[in-house]
Amino acid sequence: MIGGGVIGTSIAYHLASAGVPDVVLLERDELAAGSTSRAAGGVRATFSNPANIALGLRGLEIYSRFEELYGQPIDFRRDGYLYLLSDADDVGVFTESVAVQNSCGVPSRMVDPAEAQRLSPLIATDGLLAASWSPADGKATPESVVQGYASAARRHGARIIRHCEVTDIASSGGTITEVRTPDGAIRTSRVVCAAGAWSAAIGDMVGVPIPVQPVRRQIAFTEPIPDLPPVSPSLTIDFPSTFYFHPEGGGLLFGWSDPDEPVGFNRRFDLEGWLAGVAPIAGVRVPILLEQGIRTGWAGLYEVTPDANQIIDRSTVVDGLFIATGYSGHGFLMGPATGEIVRDLVLDRTPTYDIEDFRLGRFDRVVAAGEVNIV
Ligand SMILES: Cc1cc2nc3c(=O)[nH]c(=O)nc-3n(C[C@H](O)[C@H](O)[C@H](O)COP(=O)(O)OP(=O)(O)OC[C@H]3O[C@@H](n4cnc5c(N)ncnc54)[C@H](O)[C@@H]3O)c2cc1C
Repeated sequence: MIGGGVIGTSIAYHLASAGVPDVVLLERDELAAGSTSRAAGGVRATFSNPANIALGLRGLEIYSRFEELYGQPIDFRRDGYLYLLSDADDVGVFTESVAVQNSCGVPSRMVDPAEAQRLSPLIATDGLLAASWSPADGKATPESVVQGYASAARRHGARIIRHCEVTDIASSGGTITEVRTPDGAIRTSRVVCAAGAWSAAIGDMVGVPIPVQPVRRQIAFTEPIPDLPPVSPSLTIDFPSTFYFHPEGGGLLFGWSDPDEPVGFNRRFDLEGWLAGVAPIAGVRVPILLEQGIRTGWAGLYEVTPDANQIIDRSTVVDGLFIATGYSGHGFLMGPATGEIVRDLVLDRTPTYDIEDFRLGRFDRVVAAGEVNIV
């Protein structure tokens, strides 16, 4: 296993608890040091297709019982997701998605702007046409999930080695033979790539193109705000702009995906430049935000694929290579289901989820043509 974020630790736990011997997780830094500790913690089943909805539902189910299952509190709260819509086309698309979600058992519904404001009292409804509301969605603390999975994996015999970077993977005749690190090599015929935004480099080690690109995403936290509403959604998202917020530490956490952010591994937090982009949007949607001081913030990386959908598959080119990456902004919530899927792939069982949309082979055409676009 390469990578000690939510995906790698979940997979390590699921393999070890299924009785797979000698599970070793290599993390070059601390556990959760990659994107996982940078996530906003949102957990939702509000996707537009049944395959992703199933993974989201599993995330909600497992995180809601995580402490009972693994003995680790993760501060799970089910305060709902509210998507604010101000474009007529988006209202049509979300109305269709809500129908799909309902058919999969997700109790989401469309609401009018007045109800949206009752649900999320800090918003201004200017220009708003409608919203979609999913009361069963929630949030949790990503680092705690990683610690919970890592401890559970260790209890089942997995070894977790930190500060150990995978520098190469040797193969012979299309089959993996060993994983190399500065501290020595591990002989193995199976490797799981759960290296997040750094996954393409792992693929390069064995000649398997993994079309995942790093894109910086930033989050900021305001100073405490007196008289915040007692209940607010786990996430309120202004869909056209991608601006989102939720209460955190007595103030607000807010985020925004800068559409001009270049591809790259830059993880430096640039408050000034980012605020210049997000403030005009935030000022329209949550006017009170403009009056607040910023306490802190951080930058992390989305691991983005050309279609913004994850890759969960076994390689058809290199025997023994498994890949779980490219979640494009929603990997935290997919940790639990991913662990189950990769466990089943490694054990040569048919996963209980439909993973056809997550196959690596769907990119063969774009990779060959060099057309890797950020969506
Ligand atoms: C600002 C922000 C907000 C987000 N909000 C949400 C959210 O609300 N909900 C949600 O579901 N998702 C969210 N995400 C996305 C989520 O954080 C990621 O999709 C998820 O954490 C990916 O987990 P991972 O385990 O694949 O990757 P990571 O957590 O990045 O773990 C990969 C690990 O691999 C290690 N590694 C890489 N190369 C090597 C090597 N050669 N040898 C050894 N180790 C190596 C890295 O050090 C790293 O620790 C957000 C992301 C960001 C940046």
